[in-house]
Amino acid sequence: MVSQLNLDKAYLRMCHEWAKLSYAERKQVGALIVKDNQIISDGFNGSPAGFENVCEDLYGKTLKCVLHAESNAITKLAKGTSSSRGATLYITLSPCYECSKLIIQAGIKRVVYTNSYRIKDGLTLLKKAGIVVDNMENINHVNGKKKSSNATVVFARNEPEGP
Ligand SMILES: [Zn+2]
Repeated sequence: MVSQLNLDKAYLRMCHEWAKLSYAERKQVGALIVKDNQIISDGFNGSPAGFENVCEDLYGKTLKCVLHAESNAITKLAKGTSSSRGATLYITLSPCYECSKLIIQAGIKRVVYTNSYRIKDGLTLLKKAGIVVDNMENINHVNGKKKSSNATVVFARNEPEGP
């Protein structure tokens, strides 16, 4: 049976692939929502459906209309029939405060991410809501950027992982 850790690494690798689909020039972020070992939604940061695929203004500032990857993944579920209740969110960048509110309300129970966003208030909010937050910071080792032979992935939580 595939271990939860290996599943986590695989989903995060996929998130990094999803991030590449973003049109953003500043920061490309990819997210997946997984429930019962099935991917039920995906997202990357970008403009709403029907809008031009541009994320920054002439000065390189992110446009107000851009949705973050996790918001896109959550709102995609709102259009469908799957429920995010009890699901896990995988994402390449730790969620911001606004998205964290959506994550809580969507009933997501675990958030796994690779890179830390400089503002940490989103993570604080998630933890306050009892959501399990795991930072797999060494994912670059399994992301093909570095040799994977002696890859180690460290959970910031430092606890054995359960489903
Ligand atoms: Zn956000």
